[in-house]
Amino acid sequence: MQPSGEAHLGNYLGALKRWVEMQETYECIWCIVDDHAITSGGDPGALPKHTFDLAVSFLSVGLDPSRSIIFVQSDVPEHTELAWLFNAVTPVGELERMTQYKDKSKQFESVPAGILNYPILQAADILLYRAEVVPVGEDQRQHLELTREIARKWNAAYGDFFPEPDAAIGSVGRILGLDGEAKMSKSLGNTVGILAEPDEIWAAVRTAVTDPQRVRRDDPGRPEVCNVFTLHTHLTRSTQGEEKVEEIAYECRTAGIGCVDCKRILADSIATEFAPMRERAAHFRSRPGEVREILEDGAARARAIAGETIREVRTRMGLDWRNAVG
Ligand code: SF4
Repeated sequence: MQPSGEAHLGNYLGALKRWVEMQETYECIWCIVDDHAITSGGDPGALPKHTFDLAVSFLSVGLDPSRSIIFVQSDVPEHTELAWLFNAVTPVGELERMTQYKDKSKQFESVPAGILNYPILQAADILLYRAEVVPVGEDQRQHLELTREIARKWNAAYGDFFPEPDAAIGSVGRILGLDGEAKMSKSLGNTVGILAEPDEIWAAVRTAVTDPQRVRRDDPGRPEVCNVFTLHTHLTRSTQGEEKVEEIAYECRTAGIGCVDCKRILADSIATEFAPMRERAAHFRSRPGEVREILEDGAARARAIAGETIREVRTRMGLDWRNAVG
């Protein structure tokens, strides 16, 4: 996950919640990808704090350093080294046809090479650990396909070594922002931080867009087209149970509940879901040394795996001149 500071509701529902569950089944490696964050510029003054804040979010939601490896990408330079080595087998045409590249490059008069090469670094992030499963959103499926292709091409050129990782696509789908239009994103201001206090949550949720046809209080509503209701199906379901969600749907359709009261219930559900995370965040924020130790230990564990991969890759690619002198 890119470091843009504290994680938000969209990160939580779309990724972090599932990542915590995956720790039960897999040996997991979670990386804060600051090398990715610089591909389109960014603010070097803000990046260290954004990285720290995301680490606190990771730990607060329940990513557990005793079960998983948690680290910052730039602490393991093997990521960028492997990405460079993958340049040798990655066709430019494949990079240029990536949907995200086409979208992002429109924002630039002169497109930075990092925007084009971004998926190669992603492939390195995954294959450096010879990962078998990668939890991705639907929008990242194309990049994972490219990772599989890079693994295939590299294996064909230098001998079988990398697995072709599978995508673990979440069942949650695309989480729309509180504006009901775009994907949740901090820069669009259509979400709420996972460590927000209840009054901040309410301030954000009260502005949420609802069924546009429900103009007056006694108009019946359509929960199936209302993004507030979609959020209820995630957050109210997990905090208050399925019956409460069904009750809200019924009350909406029969105009038994107004949108303001409905949003109040959602804000309460979010506050309840986030309460234990706020507590853990307060713990880690008051002990930055503990976070530092966790990340440094994670980087050391990641480098132990990454170093083995890079040694093998370098040897197979002929980058070990000492072999010539014995
Ligand atoms: Fe949406 Fe709730 Fe209003 Fe129905 S009552 S339209 S679900 S906000």
